[in-house]
Amino acid sequence: MKNAQTNQNNVPITVALGDGIGPEITRATLKILEAAGARIAPEFIDIGEQVYLAGHSSGIEPSAWESLRRTRVFLKGPITTPSGSGYKSLNVTIRKTLGLYANVRPCVSYAPFVKTQHPAMDLVIIRENEEDLYAGIEHRQTDEVFQCLKLISRPGCEKIVRYAFEYARQQGRKKVTCMVKDNIMKMTDGLFYKVFQEIGAEYPDIEQERYIIDIGSARIATRPEQFDVIVTSNLYGDIISDIAAEMTGSVGLAGSANIGDHVAMFEAIHGSAPDIAGQGIANPSGILLGAVMMLVHIRQADVAEQVHNAWLATIEEGIHTGDLRGEQTLQHVSTAEFADAVVARL
Ligand code: NAD
Repeated sequence: MKNAQTNQNNVPITVALGDGIGPEITRATLKILEAAGARIAPEFIDIGEQVYLAGHSSGIEPSAWESLRRTRVFLKGPITTPSGSGYKSLNVTIRKTLGLYANVRPCVSYAPFVKTQHPAMDLVIIRENEEDLYAGIEHRQTDEVFQCLKLISRPGCEKIVRYAFEYARQQGRKKVTCMVKDNIMKMTDGLFYKVFQEIGAEYPDIEQERYIIDIGSARIATRPEQFDVIVTSNLYGDIISDIAAEMTGSVGLAGSANIGDHVAMFEAIHGSAPDIAGQGIANPSGILLGAVMMLVHIRQADVAEQVHNAWLATIEEGIHTGDLRGEQTLQHVSTAEFADAVVARL
């Protein structure tokens, strides 16, 4: 991105390559963005495994926050959270520190070009991103009993529910489904659904429904085309979005935006995939589609459209990474070859 960095008009963005497959897929994405003429000036920060091992238990060096607070736009490769106590999840820390309250996860089928049993699937999961069981409040009661606090606040519910309805309206979507477990967690999930009803009353133009999360998840698995926008709390949203992305053909296909009032972060929905790291076979589509959302966010919809069309043409021509391999695959390619194929179609 040498040229980009020297042009004063380029938008500074913070980039972290991440762990595992992170560097492979993030570099592939940056190569495509550069070829497409994205008007960005990336600043690289180190986060994740190396930083944990260097002794920062948060997984991020204090200086990296300065870049994030200044650029306010973050393209992030997936990171590995070391197992065991003593390490906080950096993903959770970043979302909470930067106030990234809305996690937007579109899960779309690309049938007939990608094999899926659900060709009409086109849903967006809007996941609350700061509260719930991910608030990070865990205690040891005895050696054999541990407690994790489920934190749900009215302001948190109001922000995410309003975001979901506004998103639906702006994107021309017809229905918002609320998924909760308020038959059991009457106060926490009960509040989430109550707020959904209250705020929903302000959006009579949008169809509204509620599912208990267990049957809701089952319906996503069998009839995903029934859903449009789904709003839910942190843990449920995390789980159903991996399921939904995998149903479109691969968890490697879905990108994600994490939106706050001041900062926004864009990434793939999947993790660092240590099982295939370093082999050059990962699908870079998730983070690339995250980057497409980032381009729209920084008002470069022209470049976003160009990148998205080139990516779609690549997929439609049957040029697929291993995770998508099926009868629609005409050419089985590596991460780098996939990026080159997208560049050739720009
Ligand atoms: P994962 O999403 O990394 O991988 C799950 C499975 O999907 C693996 O078999 C993997 O090979 C495959 N896969 C994932 N992305 C792929 C891609 N782009 N192309 C092809 N195949 C792909 O989940 P995991 O293995 O449970 O987690 C690994 C690490 O990632 C953990 O440390 C976890 O904490 C972390 N994680 C990070 C994020 C994030 O940074 N946003 C999200 C989820 C998990």
